Amino acid sequence: MTVVNSSSRVIYVDNAATTRLDEDALALMFDLQKNFFANPSSAYKISRPLKKILQESREKIAACINAEPQEIIFTSGGTESDNWAIKSAVLSYLNERPNIITSAIEHKAILNSCAAMEKVGCTVTKLPVDKFGEVNPADLQRKILPQTKIISVMLANNEIGTIQPVKSLAEIAHAEGKIFHTDAVQAIGHIPVDVKLLGADMLSASAHKFNGPKGVGFLYVRDGLKISPYIDGGAQEFSIRAGTENVPAIAAMALAFEKNCRDMNQTAKKISTCAKVLLECLKSNGVDFIVNGGENRLPGHLSLSFRDCEGETLLHRLDLKNIYIATGSACNSRQTQISHVLQALKVPEDYIRGTIRITFGKENSCDDAKTIGKHLIKILQPCQNQQFLIR
Ligand code: PLP
Repeated sequence: MTVVNSSSRVIYVDNAATTRLDEDALALMFDLQKNFFANPSSAYKISRPLKKILQESREKIAACINAEPQEIIFTSGGTESDNWAIKSAVLSYLNERPNIITSAIEHKAILNSCAAMEKVGCTVTKLPVDKFGEVNPADLQRKILPQTKIISVMLANNEIGTIQPVKSLAEIAHAEGKIFHTDAVQAIGHIPVDVKLLGADMLSASAHKFNGPKGVGFLYVRDGLKISPYIDGGAQEFSIRAGTENVPAIAAMALAFEKNCRDMNQTAKKISTCAKVLLECLKSNGVDFIVNGGENRLPGHLSLSFRDCEGETLLHRLDLKNIYIATGSACNSRQTQISHVLQALKVPEDYIRGTIRITFGKENSCDDAKTIGKHLIKILQPCQNQQFLIR
């Protein structure tokens, strides 16, 4: 995103933390908030358009991921969807000491849901990852227990962008008669997602990661899979997720999702080029760094570890130039400790602290990439004790 305001030019490259709300989605939200205030569950005629909007939003989202409309359950976002998937799979089996299998590099929404279930008697198995952040399906095959109730492995990682072999993992889970969930919060709207091809039984998504509003998302639940309600109350969302629906946000999410899916190839090409330009700029100037996460990553997603420097320092120095990046995942941004993801990857000691995340979005340009490169080189020169050629 490049914003020009009265005083400064801003380069926002933290799209894995959140994205800018799509203009059309914003206009739709505003119109619905203003003109369609009725409760969609009421019986009178001013509620009918709201019921219709809910149904159409479900259909739009389902069409984008090859699901059926009734398989889409609206939630408050990725964290709720993840909590719901994990907890609903084990809560009815607590007396059997159920087991949950996940990976070592999941988002805290999964890891802390698992930790909460551990406190009430579940066991949790965390699959390791290789140096690129990939789970080996053979490890899953070895770790499945008779008591395993759910296997949850993310589709793409929020820190390093690595895309997991979810299709193979789901096949293994199903061959053993287990439920498979994937946290697709970072992937959805950015890479093609077909729930039937992936074979996921449940899938979590969050609107603000694909240019929709914050505080809304969905959980895909495969037809035939019975899950218990996570929020008890009224009969909304097929009686499994109570609470008056946030129709303006849901409609805006569906619109933003549809637009992102429509423009996906074009956006991926553009932001991959931005990432390439930045990497070239750093390499050709002799900067000493590692790209984390292997080749099979989300487009435009860079986790870079620079030798002998602090990611925090880079973030603050770039902030002074109105360039917005992250050091790890957004939820970790107030903690200085090294993230569990980088630890699992075993990033070398002299690089790990100098890790930053740059995630390009559809509003970025190659000029943004060049500007970031130039500033990084200037900042890094004294840290790495080298004379870089700034081109
Ligand atoms: N899962 C992943 C992989 C994420 O990146 C995030 C947010 O950063 C979440 C879950 C939580 O989503 P939300 O912010 O919608 O609660």
